[in-house]
Amino acid sequence: MRTLRPLPIDLVDTPRLPSGELSLIDHLRLQLTLALQTSLNIEELLAIFSKQVKRLFGISGVAFSTAEPELSARTGETALHHLSYRLCTADEKIGDLSLYSRHRLSEDDLLQIEVAVSCMVYPLNNASKHHNAIIKAHRDPLTSLGNRRAMNAAIRREISRASRHHSPMSILMVDIDNFKPINDNYGHAVGDKVIACVADVLKNTAREADNAFRYGGEEFVVLLDDTDSVGAHIVAERIRQRIASLQPQNFGIKHPITVSVGCATMLENETICELTERADNAMYLAKSGGKNCVCAA
Ligand code: GH3
Ligand code: MG
Ligand code: MG
Repeated sequence: MRTLRPLPIDLVDTPRLPSGELSLIDHLRLQLTLALQTSLNIEELLAIFSKQVKRLFGISGVAFSTAEPELSARTGETALHHLSYRLCTADEKIGDLSLYSRHRLSEDDLLQIEVAVSCMVYPLNNASKHHNAIIKAHRDPLTSLGNRRAMNAAIRREISRASRHHSPMSILMVDIDNFKPINDNYGHAVGDKVIACVADVLKNTAREADNAFRYGGEEFVVLLDDTDSVGAHIVAERIRQRIASLQPQNFGIKHPITVSVGCATMLENETICELTERADNAMYLAKSGGKNCVCAA
């Protein structure tokens, strides 16, 4: 794989053809550089780039991937011939860009493609950083679950999907029972381990791992798409049982680990606040009913 860094940009001294016009390659660089400034979205950048390299070199598809965090985006079709470039700035690796072609490319094409690819280095660097910042802003670092911001966006998406398809949607509010004494008796680090382990159970019990969120401290929300109140109760009970069967000695503690769960199923025209408030009220009913149990709003 070729490692590619951006070409130096000389705004004053761009060489001209004897006619005074820009050469084809400089024209391509200029067009690409201007077009690539218009977006911080990786898919959009690939689309802009792929339109140009398809037109000029018959490239059928373009793909970009990064390892940390894992990300992959593609536009167009893969094909037999394929070129791979490792994109780097002076001091960091950005990711790998692959181009696919149905025909063998000439040496001349390859040189020009490299120039075009080098135009992608900084735009993809900026877009990757932007993408990572957005992911971080939506993720809880302790559990790697979505945070409340991610939850609100997901519920909003789910509400509009549910009303389009006339399908039910439910949420669960899950709160660890008697958590403060765990912190007080064994320290914050042990408390953190219990929170992370409960989060793992929720991730593995929700249909999609992305549907479990850390609502705050030791409280979580699970979003259940296409699920009515009966289905929600079944999932809630499964979660409750799985957590109650965690072995406290694995965390070096003697306190049982249990949760109280409140279920609420979306009503017509209900807001996110109203829905989460009902689930919260149901969770408090479960607390006053003796904890380690499930209640519905
Ligand atoms: P209940 O059974 O009624 O739910 O009582 P509880 O003790 O679980 O709940 P309470 O609200 O009294 O205490 C929750 C504690 O969770 C208080 C707070 O210090 C702790 N907490 C919040 N966030 C974190 C965290 O990220 N890590 C740890 N270790 N503790 C946290
Ligand atoms: Mg609690
Ligand atoms: Mg709580």
